[in-house]
Order: sequence, then C-alpha cells, then structure tokens
Amino acid sequence: MSVSSPHLLSGLNAEQLAAVTLEPRHALILAGAGSGKTRVLTTRIAWLLAQGLAGPHNILAVTFTNKAAKEMLARLSAMLPVNTRSMWIGTFHGLCNRLLRAHHREAGLPQMFQILDQSDQLSAIKRLLKSLNVDDEKFPPRDLQHFINAHKEQGERPAAVEAWDDYSRKRVELYAAYEQQCQREGVVDFAELLLRSFELLERNEPVRNHYQQRFRHILVDEFQDTNKLQYRWLKLLSDGGAGAAVFAVGDDDQSIYAFRGADVGNMHAFEREFAVPEVIRLEQNYRSQGNILDAANAIIKHNETRLGKNLWTEAGSGEPLCVFEAASDLEEARWIVEEIRALMRDGRARSEIALLYRSNAQSRVLEHALFSAGLPYRVYGGLRFFERQEIKHALAYLRLLANPDDDTAFARVVNFPTRGIGARSLEQLADAARLHQCSLHQAIVHLAGKAQSVLQNFSGLLDRMREGAAGLPLPEVIDHVVELSGLREHYRNDREGQDRLANLDELVTAAASFVAEEDRRPIAADDDAAAADEGELIAFLTHAALEAGDHQAEDGDDAVQLMTVHAAKGLEFNIVFISGLEEGLFPHENALLETRGVEEERRLMYVAVTRARQRLYLSFAQTRMLHGQTRYNIVSRFLDEIPQPLLKWLTPQLRNAGSAYAFGAARNGSYGNDTRKAEIAALQRDEPSGFAVGQSVMHDKFGRGVIINAEGSGQDARVQVNFTHAGSKWLALAVAKLTPA
Ligand code: ATP
Ligand code: MG
Repeated sequence: MSVSSPHLLSGLNAEQLAAVTLEPRHALILAGAGSGKTRVLTTRIAWLLAQGLAGPHNILAVTFTNKAAKEMLARLSAMLPVNTRSMWIGTFHGLCNRLLRAHHREAGLPQMFQILDQSDQLSAIKRLLKSLNVDDEKFPPRDLQHFINAHKEQGERPAAVEAWDDYSRKRVELYAAYEQQCQREGVVDFAELLLRSFELLERNEPVRNHYQQRFRHILVDEFQDTNKLQYRWLKLLSDGGAGAAVFAVGDDDQSIYAFRGADVGNMHAFEREFAVPEVIRLEQNYRSQGNILDAANAIIKHNETRLGKNLWTEAGSGEPLCVFEAASDLEEARWIVEEIRALMRDGRARSEIALLYRSNAQSRVLEHALFSAGLPYRVYGGLRFFERQEIKHALAYLRLLANPDDDTAFARVVNFPTRGIGARSLEQLADAARLHQCSLHQAIVHLAGKAQSVLQNFSGLLDRMREGAAGLPLPEVIDHVVELSGLREHYRNDREGQDRLANLDELVTAAASFVAEEDRRPIAADDDAAAADEGELIAFLTHAALEAGDHQAEDGDDAVQLMTVHAAKGLEFNIVFISGLEEGLFPHENALLETRGVEEERRLMYVAVTRARQRLYLSFAQTRMLHGQTRYNIVSRFLDEIPQPLLKWLTPQLRNAGSAYAFGAARNGSYGNDTRKAEIAALQRDEPSGFAVGQSVMHDKFGRGVIINAEGSGQDARVQVNFTHAGSKWLALAVAKLTPA
C-alpha cells in the first residue's frame, strides 16, 4: 500500500486534517451536525491503513446503524484497495454477535444460538409468565421486559439487582427465570448480546488478550449515544486505555437516546479516564445552507445543558425555511404531496426528499396520501419487513431447522397453520418440558396418547423439512420450508392473504440477494475461522434479526424516504419536510413534565433540522387524529424559537385571529370522512363570547392553550381550554382572564 496517499486527504479542512492524521492515541472529536465527523472517522481508517500504521484486522469501528456500517465499508473500498472482511465495522449488536459466534463455547452458548428481537423477547416473557402461573396484570410483560433490559444495560445479572420488598423480589426472580429459559432454548436478546460478550471478555483472559492485541484502533461514531455497558465494553477492549487507541466522535447536542439509557456523561468519562490530551472541535458545516444552519443554532441555544459550540458555513444563506399551517393532519399530508409533485416538476428526484416525523403513528396519514397519489415511498423503521407476521412465521420454521430447541420459534408455529394441536396438548407439553428441564421439542417423547401423536406429527414435519432442505442453496431452502410448512397454502386460502404471499416470495428474493452480497465480499485469509463457518442459514437469520429494515431500503430506487427523526440520525437529504410541529407531539407530551425531557426533545429537533442540505419545510396542523382521538393543537415552541426572518410562511400567519379554522377549512375542499367534516365545521362556529373554538389564548396562571369547547353565553359563558402545560380546564369567561394569544 502506498505510504502517502494525498488524494485521501484532499478537500479536508485544517481541523479535519489534523484529526485524521493524529498520531495513534486516544482522541475525542466534539463537533456539531454536518461538520464531517463521520467523514473524518472513515478517512482516518483509510489513512491508518494507507500509512501502514494498521492492517485491516487491527481495526474495529462502531457505527449507529447497519446502514451506516455499509456506507462506511463502501467508502473505504472506494478509497483504497482493502480487504474489508477482516475489519470489524458494525453496530454494537453486530460486533457482539460476531464475537459470540466466534467464541460461542467460551460464552456458554450453542453454536446455532438465535437472536430474539424485541417482539420475540416479549412473547418469550409472556410464555414464561404463563408457565409459572404469574398474574400478568400484576407483572405486565412489557414492564418486565423493560426491567430486564434496563438491568442488562447496567451490566447487572439478577444476583446483582437489589430487591427491597416482595414485589421487587418477585421481579428479580422472574428475571432469573427468564435467563434460564433463554439459556435452555439457546436464544439471546439484544441486551444479552452486549452483556454476554462483555462478560466473555471480562472473564476469559485468553480471549480478552487476543482481541486486546488484535484491535489497535477502535473508532466510535455517535459516541454521545453510547450507554454505560457499551462504554465499559469499549474500555475493556482497549485494556482500560492502555491498548488500542480509541478515536471517538460525537455531538452532545445530538444525544437523543437518554430514554434508552444512553449517557452523554460517557464523553466526560472518556476524556478523564482515557486521559484524552485535547478535545478536537470542528465548526465548519458542509451540509446545510446558511438559513437552515442558523435555525438549528437558534433552536439549540435554548438548551442549558450543553458543552457549547457553534456552527458556520461558507455556503450562502440559501432559501428561507418554508412554513405551512394546516387545518388538519389530512390537509398537511395533502399539501406535502402537492409540494413533492411540484418539486418533481422542477426536476427533483423523489429519493432526494425525506419526510421526518416524531412518532411512528404519524406515518400512516402520510403513507396514505403518498399511496393515493401514486408516489413511491419507503418507510424506514416502523413495522419492518422482517417483523411482519408471515415473515416471522417463516423465519420460525427456519430457526427450528437450525435448532429444534428454540422454544420461541416452536411455540410460534407448532400450530400455525392450524394442524389440530389443541391448547391442552400444548399445556401438557409445557408441563413435561418443565418437569424434565428440557425444550418443548425434547419433551414430546415424554407425552402420551393423543398429545404425543399430534406433536410427533409436527416433529416429523420438521424432520422432513430438514431432510428436504439438505444441500439446497438458501433461497431454495426457504422456498421449500414455506411450501412444506403449509404457510403458502394457508395464505392462498386467506382472502386477504395476497400481500402476505407476496411477502413470502419477497423473503426468497431477500435471501437470494443476501447470498449474492455475501459472495461478493472477499474472504480474508486471516479471518476468524469460526465466524466464517457459521453457515448461510444462520447468517441469514442473524441478518433478519439484526438488520431488519435494510432489505427494504435497496439503493437505486427512486422513492420518497419516510422515517422518524430518531431513525434519521447521521443521514442527510437535499430536501426535508418536518411535519407535526405541535406542542404535545413535538415536543412529545411525555417529555413536557421535566426540563430534561424538553431538552432531549429539542436535541431531537436539532437533529431533524440539520438533516437538510438545501431546503427545509416545517408544518403543523390545528387538529390531528392520533390513536383514535382528535387533538386540538398549538404550534410547537420549537417553531417559535426560529427567528422570523429565516422563515417564509406559505399560509398567512394568523396568530390573533379567532377564525383560524374557518381559514384552514376554506382552503380545504374535502375531508376524508364525514365525522371529521362535522368536527371541523363545528370548529368554525364563532362563539358569541368573543372567543372561538380553536383559538389560541393566554391565561395568567396556566399559560398558553387552545379553546376546545364552549357553552353558555353572556355571564354564563364557559370555555374548555387545553393548556400546553396545565392540561384541559373549564373556565368561566366572566372570571378567568383570558386574552387572545
Ligand atoms: P452528523 O452529526 O449529522 O452525523 P457529521 O458531522 O458526521 O454529521 P458528515 O456526515 O461526515 O458530518 O458530513 C456532512 C456532509 O459534509 C457530508 O456530505 C460530507 O461528505 C460533507 N463534508 C464533510 N467534510 C467536508 C469537506 N472538508 N469538504 C466538502 N464536504 C465535506
Ligand atoms: Mg455523522
């Protein structure tokens, strides 16, 4: 490899160059959105390789999503001829999986261990509660799931969890029982991947030494969103800072996973515990036009807990940010579709456009509007391909091929499609499994009578599947399993099964492209033999569990991109729409009770705004149907925090008007359904009190709110106001001092 590769470094600014070419030591790059952190990190890997300071197998890099890992690998391959296979680049989960596959024995796992995603985990917990006769109202499965995961993320096994009363003791007991169940079934959940590989490194000296010596450079993107255990994992791998040089990049203003245990404090801990000599800052933004950047800076300035930094750009100010006020979520969606059409007429590609929203539930209305307009779109996140019911059924059969003792998979499909295995037989089976401390599959021989014969039939079916699949390439294995299981037949007979059938075919296609992609990856001579051996089926099942969603996002398709703001982290788009900028939605109502919550929401808004390169649209709706209820909204404080000169209102800015709804509805021909039509019509009625339903008002004590109901007149006039902070209240107009807001 060439010793100096100037082309690698060309185009970097002075600070970026300094960061990329730092001598091998610990480093922290603290810099705002779009300042090139990810680019610096990728270029540094290339530079280390090109300089001969490291071989590919000396590199471990952590990205936040699989998509980011793929992009990084692709960029590296484009920068220099390098064997990417022996580099460890991936998410924490992906890397831990790789480690555990290579050392499954030392980690106490079966070679074919399977991964439980969140919904699998929940069903495993429900099954556990049932088998132990635990009241699931007293111990709701979701709570227990959260409890278990939170402790695992703290690195705590049941023995380390403190219990102070009967209730907490029972929870710890259930945590322990859940662990035993997973161990018996040979499955690991997401949090377990991390904890198990942490314990492997901690307890097994030869394994630890091997990796501490192997990885000379550890690079971490989005460092602000690492949790405690991930931090300890990194620290262990770098021998407490004495081994690998750790190069971490992050932005405290983009820390948006505190609710899942991420800890910005890790940045301080890293600086201190690794004795990082200096924190490098990058302040030039290369992504966004000036107005967009100014808006982002103005918003984030309202947060008090910041490490403090500012961004500037050489790009011009560009266009103002476009703001649209809609009467309803339906109108908002229709407007977005119209705007996208206009953009396309201007020669823009759909793939340049991203629609971002705070909550997954918002995507339905947008999807519907895009679908009706015939505009292709892709949703990232949400219910992902591999999470769909029919796909999970098919995957369960495949998992049973690999490991018949996987009880989660067994329970899922033992009677799906129905094959006359009744609840009683299954109860007997579960009892036998408990009695003999074995898997459901192994317990079949302990049954008698009808229960045994029906379950023997199922077991026979699995055997036939396995025999039939032997020696076939993966896509054919799947095709065979889908057919023999009766799934295809089942959905063929189901009137609404067409989509599901198509998805099952898509699974075969997904496997084919997965295999093709694996084949294209060069095999490294020095790669871990165990990892290479893992087998196509297991590799594909792991891919389905860990990389859910990626399959839908094939590059090259010209589709509008839809995703939550969380999912948009690290990405960039020429044109961005942020919809639903309403109090209670964004910032989310769950976050309004404490300052910390609002600050996290504001960071989320900062992430959203900084995804845009050239054009940013912001919109909000006065009414919105969410979770079956109509909500009456006031505009998000985040929109108010953007200086007016940066904004261009596409709708008149009617802050004081009592007839905001009349205005909205007048522009708006028809609504999707009659109830909502009536609702909106009711909203237009001016009340004799001088206030109108739908109007924004201020109250001395309760602050800002929206009138959502009114009754009586004169001295008896009362209005119901939905206050942003104080909730909904009925007030007598003669007494309450309300002013238009
Ligand atoms: P985020 O915080 O959102 O993850 P980031 O700091 O990781 O952002 P990058 O994604 O690395 O930023 O870079 C933002 C954009 O700016 C990318 O398109 C990148 O290619 C471009 N870029 C970065 N540095 C330069 C440079 N020196 N010259 C030109 N373009 C650059
Ligand atoms: Mg980045």
